Amino acid sequence: MDEFALIRRYFAPLSPAAEGVVLGIGDDAAILAPPAGHELLMTSDTLVAGRHFPLTTAPYDIGWKALAVNLSDLAAMGAEPLWFLLALTLPQPDEAWLAGFAAGLGSLARKHGIALVGGDTTRGNLSITITAVGSAPAGSALCRDGAKPGDQICVTGTLGDAALGLRLNGIESRSPCAQDEHDLVALRARLDRPVPRIEAGLALRGFANAAIDLSDGLAGDLGHVLAASGVGAGLRADALPMSEAFARQAEAGDRLALQAAGGDDYELCICLSPDRLAAAQAAISPLPLTVIGTISAEPGLRWHAADGALLDPELHSYQHFDDRCLPD
Ligand code: ADP
Ligand code: MG
Repeated sequence: MDEFALIRRYFAPLSPAAEGVVLGIGDDAAILAPPAGHELLMTSDTLVAGRHFPLTTAPYDIGWKALAVNLSDLAAMGAEPLWFLLALTLPQPDEAWLAGFAAGLGSLARKHGIALVGGDTTRGNLSITITAVGSAPAGSALCRDGAKPGDQICVTGTLGDAALGLRLNGIESRSPCAQDEHDLVALRARLDRPVPRIEAGLALRGFANAAIDLSDGLAGDLGHVLAASGVGAGLRADALPMSEAFARQAEAGDRLALQAAGGDDYELCICLSPDRLAAAQAAISPLPLTVIGTISAEPGLRWHAADGALLDPELHSYQHFDDRCLPD
């Protein structure tokens, strides 16, 4: 199958007639009409086989995740997804692989009404780069630089599931009980099929002073907000929200490292004025929005136990993309 037949068969179906698409796949470039009064937000992320996902990952999940990580960036800015471009490098045009990949990609794309408008297809080691474009009313996008002393620091959903899923990957459950199997599947799903928090990002546009999505781990990612805003933070280790599967499967001594330094959560971390908390929680319900700490004028990131005592966790002890965590 040549490159053009491949694009027609697998990728043209992801390019429905969509708002603002004057000309989609097929010419030298797409022609797009931005919504009136909106600003465009663009982001690009690459997934390299064996580095950003284990080589054993199902093609469906690779397609899903390649788009999800980009949508998560749009979510963090409070942007509505519009269009995306796909630059795909493949060792060979394996039809079963392509069908699975396009199905995963298409399923998430349809869920968010984002249309594929072009891309590039080349031969080489498996690597996927997606460029996603979104929009927000002019001046309304959420940025990293607006956190203020006294703001509450909140996260959506739960933290640490994907990092635990990766760590337990290939490890048999410790006891052959159905609950453990069920937990492993749930944790692994958080790693393979992250759910970009698009609706939450849109709903939080009027509430958050600053926002970021958690891709590399809470401590590092929140550090970017602190640096951009010129502030510091105190966090409560015991306040980090965990899923039931995580609570059952994570060893107590591993929890903080998994939740604060493990990557691939794709939850949103926002800073907002305390008087807006209840309304923000109501706006994204039933997705939980949990307070995990407070922004301070004093720079640096401090961790506290439930009784307020200062902790000194070694958060670099777990590296999500450490080579030891992935097969060669
Ligand atoms: P050119 O050589 O002019 O860059 P290509 O031959 O690479 O164009 O691509 C032909 C058309 O197919 C272009 O409109 C391009 O955007 C689109 N395209 C190529 N690869 C993909 C892909 N993986 N997904 C979607 N569209 C693609
Ligand atoms: Mg080309």
